[in-house]
Amino acid sequence: MSLRTKALVIIGVALLCMAGLTYVTSRFTFMRGLEEIEERNTSKHVEQALGALSYLISDLEVDTADWAAWDDTYAFIEDGNDEYIQSNLVDETFITLRLNLMLFVHSSGRIVFGKAFDLENEEETPIPQDLLAHLSANSLLLSRAATHDFTSGIISLKRGPVLIASQPILTSEDEGPARGTLIFARYLDSGTINELAQLTLFPITVHSTSEEAYPDFKEALASLLDDRPIFVKPLDTEYIGGYALIKDIYGKPGFVLRVEVPRDAYQLGQVTTSYYILSVLGVGVLVGAIAMFLIQKQVLSRFTRLIQGINHIAASGDTSTRVTLGGRDELSLVAGTINGMLAALEESGERYRALLNLGAEVGEAIIILQDTEQGDGIHTFVSDKWSRITGYFERELLGMPFFDLIHPQHREASLERHQRRMRGEIISGLFEIVIIRKNGTEVPIELTSARSIYLGKLANVIFVRDITERKQAQEELQVLYEQERDLRQRLEEEIQKRVEFTRALVHELKTPITPVLAATELLLEEIKDERSLRLVQSIDRSASNLNRRIDELMDLIRGETGMLPLNLVSVEVVSLLRDIGYEVMPVALRDGYSLTVDLPSSNPVVSADRDRLRQVVTNLLDNALKFTPAGGDITLRAREEGDNLIVEVQDTGPGISKADQERLFDPYYRRVEDRERLSGLGLGLALAKKLVELHGGQIWVKSKKGQGSTFGFSLPLETASRKEE
Ligand code: ADP
Repeated sequence: MSLRTKALVIIGVALLCMAGLTYVTSRFTFMRGLEEIEERNTSKHVEQALGALSYLISDLEVDTADWAAWDDTYAFIEDGNDEYIQSNLVDETFITLRLNLMLFVHSSGRIVFGKAFDLENEEETPIPQDLLAHLSANSLLLSRAATHDFTSGIISLKRGPVLIASQPILTSEDEGPARGTLIFARYLDSGTINELAQLTLFPITVHSTSEEAYPDFKEALASLLDDRPIFVKPLDTEYIGGYALIKDIYGKPGFVLRVEVPRDAYQLGQVTTSYYILSVLGVGVLVGAIAMFLIQKQVLSRFTRLIQGINHIAASGDTSTRVTLGGRDELSLVAGTINGMLAALEESGERYRALLNLGAEVGEAIIILQDTEQGDGIHTFVSDKWSRITGYFERELLGMPFFDLIHPQHREASLERHQRRMRGEIISGLFEIVIIRKNGTEVPIELTSARSIYLGKLANVIFVRDITERKQAQEELQVLYEQERDLRQRLEEEIQKRVEFTRALVHELKTPITPVLAATELLLEEIKDERSLRLVQSIDRSASNLNRRIDELMDLIRGETGMLPLNLVSVEVVSLLRDIGYEVMPVALRDGYSLTVDLPSSNPVVSADRDRLRQVVTNLLDNALKFTPAGGDITLRAREEGDNLIVEVQDTGPGISKADQERLFDPYYRRVEDRERLSGLGLGLALAKKLVELHGGQIWVKSKKGQGSTFGFSLPLETASRKEE
């Protein structure tokens, strides 16, 4: 409901209340007062009517007394002379006295004369028979205690109420004894009633209590019998009835008299009240109209202006606009407050914008999508970065559906994601799609979004990252990866081929050498001739050497292909090295070398393949003997260092250059100076390295040209590996 309608309703309701209040006030004060006056007035008129009735009865009583205390009547009751009848009891007497009945009753109870007369038609009528019931010997009308006792009042006959008076018949001097009773009666018929009405000025009705009467009479009777002297009740809007109970001569409630009084005061009151209410309403309407006019001019129109201003700002979304409203009332205060809020909003909007554009600095474009009448996912905010990515101007993007920019292949999924986001569903983080720029080129983007409120409406805030470069890098990486995979595959094939070849070669070499070794062994036992023996010994050495090289080659291949099994046991290194020292000692001494074995006093234990460990140490000692000129010093040394056991073989040989040191452990590598030598393929150190590494250790060489070499390797001590466990 608009404020205008509300104001109208309030004024209308106030008017109705005012009218209602006026009505109620007039009804319960003014009209009630009038009704009381009316009631009192009516009661007075009833009293008047009763007075008039009493007057009629006393009139009848006086007439009866006049006639009863008269010598002529005194004589007539005894003799019944006709003269009296002819001169007195004629029709004119009835008309003059307005009598309906005359009864001359002798004290013996005999009716001397009786005549009934119809005053209206002026003719004699029969005496009503039911009257005789009131004339028995001891009846009130005929019997008396004292000579002058008389009775007057009303009795009820079939034909209606009758005014009646009975007087003792006495002499003109009013002396007795009473010779009888004179009864005059007058019907309370329309004529009499009219007479009464003329006396009281208002219509009168009399009903016998035994008679079937109107409902108002019944109600009045009930109330009057309850000992109320007068009962008053409006008959209609024009008349009010006043009622009184009339007792008959026997003192019994015989009749109800009603006076109908016109309700002049009441009607005047009604009219006055109506005019009063109407005038109050008129004034109310006038005041209401003026109030409405003033409210419209001073409040509503200004209010409407304020709302229009706010609506305009809301529609344009331009928070820099302000509402204008003159004056110094509360509304202008509201306008001031709204302007303050707009300023704050503008400031926060600026801050918001700055923040969003800051996003561009870190490479994120920010856009806000909202669902409007123009469609779902309309750009309602775009950061500069988004313009740069899409190639559209900001003004072109605003109002454009985001999904128009998306590659058809991704459009449906994107729209569905947007709708789910707007519904507040939880969706997984990053989403990659391709958009089409203004110039038609495709741009891969990565986006993440969040549901928020923008300009008071639900919004999908999207952070976009241009991932063109990343995609390119990924593609390049993919190409490189594929190239590398091809190369690796080729390399593996190459290695496999080499392994196959070497395995075949080893097999080919091993096959002929085995019978040569067996044969030379036999020959060494058989041949006694010194010269032949030396030749066979030479063949045996060469064949053994060759066999060892073939084994080395075989082990290296196994090591490289991961097929060299180690039989790991706990090896007490000191005793192993001491044994090797004893084995090598004779050879070294024979060729003029000095061999020093320097071992720790503790008993370090390593987890190792005993034979392979022996092979590594022997190989290093062999090399030292092989490359150190005769007479040189060879040292086999071992020590514990931290969690490792270190074994070293030091010689005083030619030393090894830095360049050679770096490649010495590569298979088939030999120092330039040694390449002419026939023995050795350059596999010994490579195999030693492989074996040491398989044991979890490292191998190295320390040397300087011309200053001898020290080959060393480390093995984790068993206590250390236990500790680790
Ligand atoms: P081989 O001894 O069968 O040639 P190795 O792998 O055992 O193969 O040795 C490779 C090369 O390292 C040798 O040819 C030699 O040139 C060099 N070399 C090895 N030990 C020593 C050493 N103690 N002093 C000098 N040079 C050495």
